[in-house]
Amino acid sequence: MLRAFFISLSKANWAQRAIISLPVGWRVASRFIAGETPETAIQVVRELNLKGINATLDYLGENTNSSIDASHSTDEVLRILDLIKVSGVQANVSIKLSQLGLTIDKDFFHQNLTKILSSASQSGNFIRIDMEDSSLTDKTIQTLIWAQAQGFTNTGIVLQAYLYRTEKDLVDLTSKGISIRLCKGAYNELAEVAYPKMADVNANYDHLARLLLQAASLPGSPRLSEDGRVPPLAAIASHDPRRIAMARRFIAELNLPQQAVEFQMLYGIRRDLQNELASAGYSVRVYVPYGTHWYPYFMRRLAERPANVWFFVSNLFKK
Ligand SMILES: Cc1cc2nc3c(=O)[nH]c(=O)nc-3n(C[C@H](O)[C@H](O)[C@H](O)COP(=O)(O)OP(=O)(O)OC[C@H]3O[C@@H](n4cnc5c(N)ncnc54)[C@H](O)[C@@H]3O)c2cc1C
Repeated sequence: MLRAFFISLSKANWAQRAIISLPVGWRVASRFIAGETPETAIQVVRELNLKGINATLDYLGENTNSSIDASHSTDEVLRILDLIKVSGVQANVSIKLSQLGLTIDKDFFHQNLTKILSSASQSGNFIRIDMEDSSLTDKTIQTLIWAQAQGFTNTGIVLQAYLYRTEKDLVDLTSKGISIRLCKGAYNELAEVAYPKMADVNANYDHLARLLLQAASLPGSPRLSEDGRVPPLAAIASHDPRRIAMARRFIAELNLPQQAVEFQMLYGIRRDLQNELASAGYSVRVYVPYGTHWYPYFMRRLAERPANVWFFVSNLFKK
């Protein structure tokens, strides 16, 4: 209930105006967001790199209906790719297609995406396409296939364990050698398309993680690059200790090398686990969001954990 409420709030303009105007909004959100500028985000990545952790940078924004906003987001993604190159940090970039004009106009959207993929490929970097709600799953996968067909093999995607369709998508995409970040899924979905019960999502997560890791154990499967930018075929994206323990078991059974799989977590969440996995010799990547459009991302983080809501409410009464 609380989860659904906060996810629906993430799309409400009135709530966005109210929360971003409150100083407490940013005070609490900044636990999950690296900063409002690309320079601050690069600094956060430097600190992660010092701990042996790679990053994926995300310029926040989604669901734009404005071509001006989509062009602006494209320019910002190009800027962060340049900053990664110039600063030498170990990071790649995550994007949301609805931020670049996916739902505005196909040619315009393809032009924006092509600029980003060309720039990433020229600098030897990698673009991860985040997965949004299920109304965009088909279009997102089709776009990835289109990008690969244009020769942009420096791309990967995210799949969500809560969707019934994901096993088929995972098998199709891994058979083409496409890198997958496996997460549980962060949106409100109907029971027609997604498991409503967390126990079923968790069971499916473990099942899919096993399939993904088996694909990563095949000869020729993509490996983590030395500069930490190009990821391996398999990324286990979860903060759930049980899912992580299960993945570690599969990794050991398959005798997978460190460069064949990475664990991914979100900035500001379970830093203890991030450090523990990195110290134990696993490849770890942290998703580092930045920018001024932090509201929907922040709402999804509140939705995931009731304790975050209480933290936010208690801060309302602090000076
Ligand atoms: C790197 C990365 C990229 C992602 N990309 C996408 C994407 O493209 N599309 C998409 O739909 N989803 C994405 N997600 C979000 C994901 O789908 C889940 O919503 C989110 O990770 C919470 O699920 P969990 O696996 O951590 O398990 P949960 O069962 O939700 O959480 C397990 C434990 O993790 C901790 N935790 C989890 N969330 C929070 C939080 N918000 N605040 C504090 N503690 C928390 C708590 O200790 C909790 O008990 C991504 C997640 C990660 C880690």
